[in-house]
Amino acid sequence: MKPLSPQEAQVTATFSRRMMLRLENSSTVDARIKGKKLRPVCGDRVEAEAIAGESEWLITAIRPRDNELTRPDNRGRKEVLAANLSCVVVMAATEPEPDWFIVDRYIAAAENMGVKALVVFNKSDLSKDPQPASGPLADYVAAGYVVIRCSAESGQNLELLKEALGGETAIIVGQSGVGKSSVINQIVHDAEQRIGALSSSSREGRHTTVNSIMLDLPGEGRVIDSPGVRDYAPAIDTEEEVICGFREINDAGLDCRFANCRHLREPDCAVKSAVDDGRISARRYESYKRLMVLTRNLAERRR
Ligand code: GDP
Ligand code: ZN
Repeated sequence: MKPLSPQEAQVTATFSRRMMLRLENSSTVDARIKGKKLRPVCGDRVEAEAIAGESEWLITAIRPRDNELTRPDNRGRKEVLAANLSCVVVMAATEPEPDWFIVDRYIAAAENMGVKALVVFNKSDLSKDPQPASGPLADYVAAGYVVIRCSAESGQNLELLKEALGGETAIIVGQSGVGKSSVINQIVHDAEQRIGALSSSSREGRHTTVNSIMLDLPGEGRVIDSPGVRDYAPAIDTEEEVICGFREINDAGLDCRFANCRHLREPDCAVKSAVDDGRISARRYESYKRLMVLTRNLAERRR
């Protein structure tokens, strides 16, 4: 049998070192990875080739990534969770009680990846106040983010969410229990079955957890669910990244006296005046300062 030439494919699901690929003709195949060094993730464009006499394909190279969503692993190195995204959907909910610092960190990660951040507030069926004029959600709207309040339970605004994700390659992130799986099950046709089928087909018995899977939305959009990697904070490495991660602070900072102002204790800081007169949310500014401290401490520990 003569070997087939390699072709470009996209990684659509990962379980440990086993992958699912979408080929150029849109068909889906299982694949393994050549060598130990390559670490493809969901969303990667890869080169792959068929293996004579086998149904599995072999991934031989990863094409350069447009962007990566990363988290620090327990040794402080970066682990890539997904690549080539166009949107990060940050989900919070009426319950569990929102950790807005985590939401801010995901948004900061999206800003640094150069992709859209979309804030989704789920379980609207449980909240009494449907349109609060102030508070964290209003802060995000004021900073220019799209905020969608929805409910996987009642179906409220799920159509709006689907529309917002049209044409995007999005990943859904957020604290455990906010309803990521529930929302995905509502907006993706057969999501539960597709994830279930994939888990049980991961031969060898060991890799039964799907790390992440890309699901097609009606219309052109795709959404990545990562049931294997819940509850993490994205990696932010430098003070510059923290500044860039808070859009309204970065914008206001153009008017600071010092071009390298970090908006902490510097004189004539336009950010601090904006916080003082309420143009920038004090809560967002607290998150900013907290992330600055965290990032500096991490950087010192790495040294
Ligand atoms: P995940 O950990 O973010 O994937 O969250 P799940 O989708 O597993 O949901 C966690 C719990 O919240 C489950 O018991 C869901 O039934 C419940 N839940 C999810 N969405 C909603 C919603 O819109 N309203 C209500 N009342 N409960 C929900
Ligand atoms: Zn400043």
